[in-house]
Amino acid sequence: MKLSIVYDNEAKEGFKSDWGFSCLIESGDRKLLFDTGASGDILTYNMQQLGIRKEEIEIIALSHEHGDHTGGLDVVLHPGVAVYLPRSFSRRLKKNVAEKAARVVEVSDPKEIFPGVHTTGELGRGIKEQSLVLDAEEGVVVLTGCAHPGLENILEAATVFGELYGVIGGFHGFDKLESLQGLELIMPCHCTVRKKEIWGMYPEKTVRCGAGEVIEL
Ligand SMILES: [Zn+2]
Ligand SMILES: [Zn+2]
Repeated sequence: MKLSIVYDNEAKEGFKSDWGFSCLIESGDRKLLFDTGASGDILTYNMQQLGIRKEEIEIIALSHEHGDHTGGLDVVLHPGVAVYLPRSFSRRLKKNVAEKAARVVEVSDPKEIFPGVHTTGELGRGIKEQSLVLDAEEGVVVLTGCAHPGLENILEAATVFGELYGVIGGFHGFDKLESLQGLELIMPCHCTVRKKEIWGMYPEKTVRCGAGEVIEL
């Protein structure tokens, strides 16, 4: 499985950085785009740099309904795509997606999206959010948008799919850094407040995040 960071607060040379998050998952010939960043123009630019065409995207999964994760949605919707979104999303957004995509899948419970890729289901009481759980050889890797439900709660929910191996994405204000000890791969992206402390505590396990970064699981 291959992960390409398409949109992030940081960027590799040749890519644009902006507050927001988007990541492409490729497994065999299947492509899933997780979140769409804030700006359609920046999303399009970074996708071009990575050689991604929207028509190749079979599934779009949206973590939560904040503009820095859904803002670029319109530029990647196409008549062949299925969109997985938390059931709590607004009627307005669901209607927009239903008009432009092949299929809308409203998510509430944990389930498989396709072999090797699962959703935690909709978590959290305030801002509801789904995270993805990816099968890697060594265990499962959790992919978060902003981790509003609390990263520790998301990691806990992901354990139904296997032993935790890594975590990638926005961790927001998460500060129970010692609870990451058991993980082998930590890729703090986007809104993670304590990036520097994570690097300091786990220098050998932490991987740099930024638009244009590609990792193999
Ligand atoms: Zn958010
Ligand atoms: Zn965010």
